[in-house]
Amino acid sequence: MKVLVAVKRVVDFNVKVTIKSDRTGVDVATVKMSMNPFDEIAVEEAVRLKEHGVATEVIIASCGVTQCQETLRTAMAMGADRGVLVETGAALQPLAVAKLLKALVDKEQPGLVILGKQAIDDDSNQTGQMLAALANLPQATFASKVVVADGKATVSREVDGGAETLSLTLPAVITTDLRLNEPRYVTLPNIMKAKKKPLEVVKPEDLGVDVTPRLKTLKVVEPPKRSAGVKVPDVKTLVEKLKTEAKVL
Ligand code: AMP
Repeated sequence: MKVLVAVKRVVDFNVKVTIKSDRTGVDVATVKMSMNPFDEIAVEEAVRLKEHGVATEVIIASCGVTQCQETLRTAMAMGADRGVLVETGAALQPLAVAKLLKALVDKEQPGLVILGKQAIDDDSNQTGQMLAALANLPQATFASKVVVADGKATVSREVDGGAETLSLTLPAVITTDLRLNEPRYVTLPNIMKAKKKPLEVVKPEDLGVDVTPRLKTLKVVEPPKRSAGVKVPDVKTLVEKLKTEAKVL
């Protein structure tokens, strides 16, 4: 069984982003970029499936600029077999990515597609769901445990007030939650090995997909600044202030 994993190159989670002066988005020109953390979890899960003899091949797909090749190489250093870059300089929205991934699903026919539950840059939480709909595949989002056996995936997912377990007939789409696993660190020898693994580059046109944005960002603004807090000497003063200043009591 082939497993296809989608990985997005995003601003590293440690970077404090700043907004561009024209308010059209955040400044990504000079900041550190990394693999979306939920996608690292997706790669780890796929590699473990291969190590346990469930998957035969792990294919990584990324859509975006040329530098996404670095993200693909990182995934290959974690143990994936090969990468596909759908190269475009266009701003990609979740529907466009889902269409590109659908084209790759048609081509590769994976038994399982794993995505992150959300990209930490746009926080859309849409691509996996859209892909499942476009490809007419069953889906389990926010997976915290995945067991694949006998043509089925049993997926646990955390929901309000408990855990839900779903059984999906493969092929299927799964999106990862934080608790699914702890991704491994890449080692230098594996980084070297990953340089020799196959990496195919295609264009959206090659896949017959129109990636024109459907949504327009009107403006991006900083959250309002929080005013400094005060220390109160005792509970009596706190209650007093909540009554008279904050007026919440
Ligand atoms: P989103 O719907 O944007 O929050 O992204 C959810 C997931 O879709 C991510 O965690 C990735 O697995 C996948 N994804 C989103 N954008 C891309 C992209 N440009 N290339 C590859 N995968 C992507």
